Parts: sequence; structure tokens; C-alpha cells
Amino acid sequence: MKVFHPPTLLAPFGVLRLIQFRRNGYSPGVETSPPILEDIRSPVRLESRPQPATVTRERPASDWEEPDCPLCGRRRRQVILRAFDNAAPGDWHRYEVVRCLDCQLCFTSPRPSPELIRQYYPAGYGPHALPLRNRRSPWWSRLAARSGLLFQARKALPWHGQGRLLDFGCGGGSFLQRMHGLGWRVTGVDISPVAVDRICGQLGLHALVGSLPHPELPPQAFDVVTMWHSLEHVHDPLEVLRGAHGVLTARGRLLVAVPNFDSLAFRWFGENWFGLDLPRHLTHFTPNTLSAMLERAGFRVRNVRMVRHSHWLRRSAAIARQERRLPWRQQWTRGKVGSRMISSYAFLTRQSECMLVTAER
Ligand SMILES: [Zn+2]
Repeated sequence: MKVFHPPTLLAPFGVLRLIQFRRNGYSPGVETSPPILEDIRSPVRLESRPQPATVTRERPASDWEEPDCPLCGRRRRQVILRAFDNAAPGDWHRYEVVRCLDCQLCFTSPRPSPELIRQYYPAGYGPHALPLRNRRSPWWSRLAARSGLLFQARKALPWHGQGRLLDFGCGGGSFLQRMHGLGWRVTGVDISPVAVDRICGQLGLHALVGSLPHPELPPQAFDVVTMWHSLEHVHDPLEVLRGAHGVLTARGRLLVAVPNFDSLAFRWFGENWFGLDLPRHLTHFTPNTLSAMLERAGFRVRNVRMVRHSHWLRRSAAIARQERRLPWRQQWTRGKVGSRMISSYAFLTRQSECMLVTAER
């Protein structure tokens, strides 16, 4: 499927893109191919980052791996993108994203081994920080939660069975804390021992260090499993999804939110797209490849919702400016008004910055 590029924002609400989407839909196996970015063909532009004074990281060659495709296991691939770690201005390495020529999944390769990747998460990594309001919610909030708002929360997050929830990649625990306040029985899993210690010690909630499948989690113990921007960080996402399938009850729900590699923002910003986050993001999902992986893990995909993150456009524009190139289209995304307009346009035409997939066991 060729991606339609609207020439200007005047295209009324992306009608053409919408018609084209409706005609083609999302069908696992038939992939919207992310474009090969121009930069691969014009390497001169790649050298525009100023040479840093120091290279901050040691990289023994043995700690880098070139994995088989995490979805189909084959090895035919094509490099589609080279980009810097935009969270580390002193890092002069360009990381590569490849596309599997068999199933179209895009992933980072070569990538740091599970041991090495720890040094790519800075000490103050945002998602591992504790929630700002580290205390029990006030009485009126709990009362409201138990009446009307609880219904809203149940609607937003499918309330199912006894309300046992597992949050994979729970980070600082803000989501666990919120859902606990709404009456859910919550458990968190995170690879960071520091984050898990804080959740258990300071928030008094149940959390485990590790990944999925987890030896301490019995089968069919949860009604809902959530993954908020965590699946793109793991080395074997299919194994994690199979683990989630194992701990869910029959007809239990899985919610997965990840950046959308088939987004307007990625096509506009390419290597400067905020959602790339190399090399911490190891798999770069589109609605099709995520649906295909969920089905391979045994899930039935119920829906793929677009999620707006207009601030990602502003962050991308800021990164692109550092690289001293900002075409006129991207100038629009620097301010709040422009970025929100473009983000809304992307939402209406189903090419938002992020996506939320609901699947059923
Ligand atoms: Zn593949």
C-alpha cells in the first residue's frame, strides 16, 4: 500500500487519506511499508551533527547483537533509517532500524544486549520516577471514583472479572496507584529493581522485578494486562505477549500502547522523530505489525485506536532544529497551536503519533 502524502493542510480533514484507509484497512500480513528515508540515499546530511568533545559510552562488540526478526524469525532485512540517540547529545553513534523483508516488522539492529542496554537508561529516566502525588487520593476523589467516575474508568479500561490488573513495565507506579485508588487489585512488573523497590516501599503496592513470563505469576491470575509504552523496549516482544496471554483469564483483556511507526509525524521527521528513542526502542510497530504479533501470541485484536501526542511533534521539531534543518512543513509544529492542529489532522486520518490496541485472550 502506498502512503498518501497530503500536499498541504488544506486537504479538508484528510478525506482522501481516510478513503484510502477505509479501502485498505488494517490487515495483518499486508503491511504499510514505512518509507526508506532520503537520508539513506544522501549520506552527506547525516554528518550534520557537530562532532562531540567526548564519546561517553564503551561498546564492546560482543555486547551487540543482530537479532532474527522478532516476529517471523527470518533474517532478510533492509536498513531503512540511521539515527542518533537524541537523549544523549554526546553520543556520536548512529543506530540503525531495519525492516524485515518477509513480515515488514521494523526493529533496531544491531542492538545492545539485555545487559548492555541498562547503560542507555539514564539515572533520572522519566518513566522510572515516582508519581508526583505520592499519597492516598482524598476522600472526595475516592467517593467520586466509586460512583460515576468508576464507570468511566471501567469503560476506558475494560472492567472484567474480579478487577485484577497487571501493569507490565510499571515504571514509577503512577498508573498502578491510580487504578488502585479506583478499586482495582493491582500488580506491577518492571525490569528496574529501583523502580520496583519504590513502588513496594513508598506506595505500598505489589510489584515484581523481571519480565513476562514471570515465575511468580500463576497462570490465569489477571483480568486485564496493560503495557503503556513498554513493549517497544523489550528484546523479545513476542515472548512477552505470550507471557501476558498465559497470565490472563479466558476472555481477559490486553491493552498495548506504543508509538506508531506508520504515523504522519514519523514520515515528516524521520530520524528526528521523538518516538524513535534509539537505541532504547527495539521494535518499531505499525498497526499491522503489532496486530500480527498479537495474533501470533494467541490474541484476538478487538480494535486499534489512535492516540494524539501533540507535544511529540514539538519535541521532534526541537530535535530537528538542533540538526539545523527544519523544512517549512515542520515549522508548523514548533508552537502549541500548529502542533495541535497537525496532531488532530493526523488523528482524523488515522496516522497519529501513538496507538492503543485492545486485544482479547
Ligand atoms: Zn519478519
